[in-house]
Amino acid sequence: MSSKSFFIINYGCQMNFLESQKIAGQLEGIGYSYAPDKMNADYVVLNTCAVRETAERKIYGTIGLIKKYGKSGVKIAVGGCVTQVKGKEIYDRYKQVDIIFGSRNKEMLPQFFESADKGKRILNLDEIVNEDIEYALSAKRDSKYSAFVEIMKGCNNFCSYCIVPYARGREISIPPDNIKDKIVGLIDKGYKEFTLLGQNVNSYGKKFTDDKDRNYRFLDLLNDLEGINGIYRLRFITSHPKDFSFELADLMATSNIIAHSLHLPIQSGSNKILKLMNRGYSKEDYIEKISYLRSKIPDIALSTDMIFGFPSEDERDFLESIDILKKINYQIAFLFQFSVRTGTAAAKMEEKFIDNKTKLERLQYAIDFQNKISYERSKNYIGNIEDLLFYSSDKTGKKLMGRDTHNMIVVADGKKKDIGNIKKVKINDGNSYTLFGSQLNE
Ligand code: SF4
Repeated sequence: MSSKSFFIINYGCQMNFLESQKIAGQLEGIGYSYAPDKMNADYVVLNTCAVRETAERKIYGTIGLIKKYGKSGVKIAVGGCVTQVKGKEIYDRYKQVDIIFGSRNKEMLPQFFESADKGKRILNLDEIVNEDIEYALSAKRDSKYSAFVEIMKGCNNFCSYCIVPYARGREISIPPDNIKDKIVGLIDKGYKEFTLLGQNVNSYGKKFTDDKDRNYRFLDLLNDLEGINGIYRLRFITSHPKDFSFELADLMATSNIIAHSLHLPIQSGSNKILKLMNRGYSKEDYIEKISYLRSKIPDIALSTDMIFGFPSEDERDFLESIDILKKINYQIAFLFQFSVRTGTAAAKMEEKFIDNKTKLERLQYAIDFQNKISYERSKNYIGNIEDLLFYSSDKTGKKLMGRDTHNMIVVADGKKKDIGNIKKVKINDGNSYTLFGSQLNE
């Protein structure tokens, strides 16, 4: 057992966040302790994201910073999506890095750290494809009440701009019994709210069959989870518009536990761009699914991702994207400028690249446009009574925070003892991303 300390810097999505929790669980399992900050840790672990170029660039700056200002003798471990595609290059170029691991071999971290303790440099990008080992890894979770649960990893879609299928490999679903056992175990520990994670949850379970030899898919998993006692609220991300089904909309409408929110990344409002992105649906398909979902769940809150400045995007395509923001009336939209990722199909569309100034102008316009929509939508919640699971105190320490069924952050008055409990809160105000309320006396 070691008495060394570690600090994890996480980049990217919720999947990575959960991966970081599992890395922390692994290191605590071999006796390392979590350092209060990165400058005082014996090991700094960078869990990287390759989705956008800016996130990748930050990693290299951070490596230099840690070596210069970190604890004397600090060791650096870099893993995740960036190393899976560029690990050898980083190993050769950044001699300050002691351990390079991939996106599918954190099970081997104890061995890597043991070797690094003895002064060895490690480069290991092996893919361990064993759902049972993966399942057995325990995560060091930040919340005691709300947990991410991975149901699948990787992606088979190859959207033309996206590095994920290269960085995280092909799709693998975690067996349903493993998922159910994990959730039951977490319920026993007091967890009440669960978010199922996967790059494309709608494609869950392709290789599974049930006891009657029928295909076992995402709907079956949701149905089974509905039957487990103790789940207060269930969310899932990410859904893919081409695979999101009317049956899933029906199930969401009748479920007692599935939240009234859905993240459905449209990426563009132009059919020309959607085709170039290899997304597999048209704007009309998307609108039809949303209309159906809204007819079943009128208060559903939608969020999306959208990319601006994709190669060959012209003014008309751009305006179609703005139009879809307005038509769908998203609660939240995560808007980005196109970022070229080496090795993807879009990286080969060089002659159609959009200049940076235009990309930025379009993005800024879209952000301002969406902010107004989000703000107006938030004001519509005023007067609503929402059921809320309080997770923690807010930044001031004087109020409590939770998320409602629409996945909105709600800040409300309350006592520390209310954390972990479900309370009724009246919404009094809101800005684009946060609602403010007061607890109702029951
Ligand atoms: S669905 Fe497309 S955007 Fe999402 S992870 Fe897979 S390839 Fe990337």
